[in-house]
Amino acid sequence: MRVLIVGGVAGGASAAARARRLCESCEIVVFDRGEYVSFANCGLPYFIGDVIMEEADLLLATPELFAKRFNIEVRTRSEVTAISASKRTITVTNLRTGVEYLESYDALVLSPGAQPFRPDIPGIELAGVFQLRTIPDSVQIKAAVQGARRAVIVGAGFIGMEMAENLRLQGLEVTLVELADQVLPPFDPEMAILAQERLEENGVVVRLSTSVTGFRDDGGLAVDLSSGETLPADLVLLAIGVRPETKLAKTGGLEIGPRGGIVVDDFMRTSDPNIWAVGDAVEVHDLLTDNWKLIPLAGPANRQGRIAAQNVVGRDGDHEVSRFRGVQGTAIAGIFGLAAAATGASERTLLRAGIEKFGKVYLHNDHHVGYYPGGKAIALKVLYHLGDGRILGAQAVGEAGVARRIDVIATTIQHGGTVYDLAEAELAYAPQYGAAKDPINVAGMIAVNNLEGNLPLADWAHLADTEASVIDVRSPKEFASEHLQGAVNIPVDELRQRLHELPDHKIWLICGVGKRAYYATRLLRQRGFDASNLSGGMKTWRALAASGLAAR
Ligand code: FAD
Repeated sequence: MRVLIVGGVAGGASAAARARRLCESCEIVVFDRGEYVSFANCGLPYFIGDVIMEEADLLLATPELFAKRFNIEVRTRSEVTAISASKRTITVTNLRTGVEYLESYDALVLSPGAQPFRPDIPGIELAGVFQLRTIPDSVQIKAAVQGARRAVIVGAGFIGMEMAENLRLQGLEVTLVELADQVLPPFDPEMAILAQERLEENGVVVRLSTSVTGFRDDGGLAVDLSSGETLPADLVLLAIGVRPETKLAKTGGLEIGPRGGIVVDDFMRTSDPNIWAVGDAVEVHDLLTDNWKLIPLAGPANRQGRIAAQNVVGRDGDHEVSRFRGVQGTAIAGIFGLAAAATGASERTLLRAGIEKFGKVYLHNDHHVGYYPGGKAIALKVLYHLGDGRILGAQAVGEAGVARRIDVIATTIQHGGTVYDLAEAELAYAPQYGAAKDPINVAGMIAVNNLEGNLPLADWAHLADTEASVIDVRSPKEFASEHLQGAVNIPVDELRQRLHELPDHKIWLICGVGKRAYYATRLLRQRGFDASNLSGGMKTWRALAASGLAAR
């Protein structure tokens, strides 16, 4: 069996290695138009920031290793320009010699990735306007950083954020320009604001709701913004998303989906029975919203590569045994020592998908028990279905323990789990690592309390127009330092004695992070009051207010 693979990085390299592990007799050839295969795209920002010092450290495997260890032939600088699905051939151009030739296949796997988006704006072709996808891109940017003073990054997604940090590490003044009204689009605004604040604390200037209207050569690069402002820059990085590479797939007549990606089934097979496709180039099934989407991430690309190989060469003599489960967009980025991670849907995604019946819990527990020194707060938000408690998404931001919490929730989501599962999750605990009641358990318990009617959660969105009386149950000192407009202070420990001061209509309870307000909610509800908790307390309010989602 002759297996040809186009693209030799995340999805392609995984497919090739897996195919060999399952089929010693297969002939496997990988084509990549670049100089390198199996390199760490995800490490490129850190190579530019000199965190990863050697270019060679970015190479996870070389053509020589593929040949020696796996008997896989890798042809670099070899662009596949056309597919003839009926003849089962591909056309290849050797970019070193210009020679064009045909190769035939029994099975073809496409993993061509996605191109950084370059909008059609004036001056985009000017020297000094970079994009980051390959090792040569990173070498060029690294060279441009030498002697540069000012950088403009367009796009505040994961790559924009990582590059902001790494260019600051290199001593540059950095301005981050973002069209949306928040950084980190996969996050809800009150979580994204925490990342924005960290950027600003570290000297990154953030311009939101702003687009670049053009680049000019003004003796140096000039970046014109929709605000009318012009930013001088020594280098510009475009990090405004990617577009699936489908040019090749189209030559083979493969079906392209409405979002511009290659259409595949659950087995990663395209509309042609002999061609599979994986990675950033394909549309994927979103587990939470049931929609098909483009989610360009390394984890799914690697897993899809493995699955495609299993289906191509068969496993245990059986074909198409491996089904891809779909994606949920689990991702994490580091921002000056802060980790921001998410899995599943955000509130915005849920609303766009017409899913309105969801609850949300905010939690601000430390990543490990308070009595052990060094605990760092994690801001955690969990979204769940208000009917069956199915987890719909989660976001976490903090300096420690963030990945672990999101990974537990991500795994629970993949198994169709609920907030009841989070409440009951048995997690590793010693004082320096977690808590006997881990933040995961606590978030689950709050949501379960909410579902079972023990803890109604007030809707932050109605803070400005609610008829409820807001009772702040913190200490007078905490209340004096900052409180919600119109709130009345009755400390939780005095509540039983001061019940007569409470109104007989709706009461919203607030404290620092939600815990004392929870005790107060339970107390008051058992005494017949219509009490609800403002989840996450003043800490959540500060984030909501800073992102414009709550009244100040
Ligand atoms: P790629 O890895 O892009 O590989 C595609 C290859 O195909 C390329 O080498 C290309 O040259 C080749 N090719 C394309 N067309 C042809 C053709 N016609 N002929 C021959 N060769 C062709 N994801 C994460 O999950 N976490 C991260 O931290 C993260 N950080 C990232 C940082 C950066 C700077 C970048 C650029 C990406 C990052 N990603 C991250 C995304 C991740 O790298 C991609 O999702 C993943 O690499 C996609 O794998 P792929 O195989 O689909 O495509």
